[in-house]
Amino acid sequence: METEKPETGRFAPSPTGRMHLGNIFAALVSWLSARKKGGRWILRIEDLDPQRSRIEYARQIEDDLNWLGLDWDEGGIDDTGSHGPYRQSLRANFYEEAISRLKETGLTYPCYCTRADVMATQAPHESDGRIVYAGTCRPASLSGKSDSPIITIPDTKRTERATRLFVPDEEISFTDRLYGPQSVNLASHCGDFVLRRADGAWAYQLAVVVDDALMGVTEVVRGSDLLLSSAQQIYLYRLLGLTPPRFAHIPLICNESGVRLSKRDSSLSMERLREEYTPQHLIGMLAYISGILPEPFPISAHALLPLFSWTSLRPTPTISI
Ligand code: GLU
Repeated sequence: METEKPETGRFAPSPTGRMHLGNIFAALVSWLSARKKGGRWILRIEDLDPQRSRIEYARQIEDDLNWLGLDWDEGGIDDTGSHGPYRQSLRANFYEEAISRLKETGLTYPCYCTRADVMATQAPHESDGRIVYAGTCRPASLSGKSDSPIITIPDTKRTERATRLFVPDEEISFTDRLYGPQSVNLASHCGDFVLRRADGAWAYQLAVVVDDALMGVTEVVRGSDLLLSSAQQIYLYRLLGLTPPRFAHIPLICNESGVRLSKRDSSLSMERLREEYTPQHLIGMLAYISGILPEPFPISAHALLPLFSWTSLRPTPTISI
């Protein structure tokens, strides 16, 4: 008989800078949701990008979580727990295995396009920053038609090549815990997407699926900027024969000019916030602006647990402060 997986949440920060208010909001809601059900909480360090990731930032993330009182059962830099390692830079063997299984499906192919090639084939209406791959390197066997949309001829003599995954022209549907039913056509949303970059770096989409599945994660809580990419992940779960977690996206926090916070803005970084507030003030303020508390008052993460419910969160894409 199959045993039920224990409720498991996770926080998966990229150690590319000091966390900001939006990052700690995701950590807080993910922690509250897992702990409310008596579940476990994992800290996974998403240091896939070798150029931008730094161990010092990972240490600061741990220090900031400890300061906020958000404790984890598994993971972190010292790899506590049985599903390690918990730093993605040390998990290449798991990604290798998954990509070989995906290659066996016949749906992957080498892509020789440079970034400039990909940009050159962009449809003019893709103004929201999304890149939709036009299928330049896709083999005719996968296109299912002889007039595949080749616009630029890639230089197939380049030795570096990425591995791309063919996506079908069909809707992928799922229900987000906060934003409700979603339906995404991957062919128009992103096109065939990269599993491994030409420089050998693993793509987030592949790594996140492999890790959440192997770590037994049952609920993914993260910012609404990743809502639609859940469809790419559900597609990968299907191809790998794995069960997806429950997805729960939360509003992004924007500054007073309505611009989403980034790790480059210092005004709401943890460095500044820790100088000005106590952990209880910050948690009370986040709980108030997101609708968890009807009014702002200082409160610890543990004291907020009985007051937390998903129904109090408002499904707006952003929250301005
Ligand atoms: N590593 C991503 C970030 O720091 C989060 C990805 C996820 O939660 O799936 O924004």
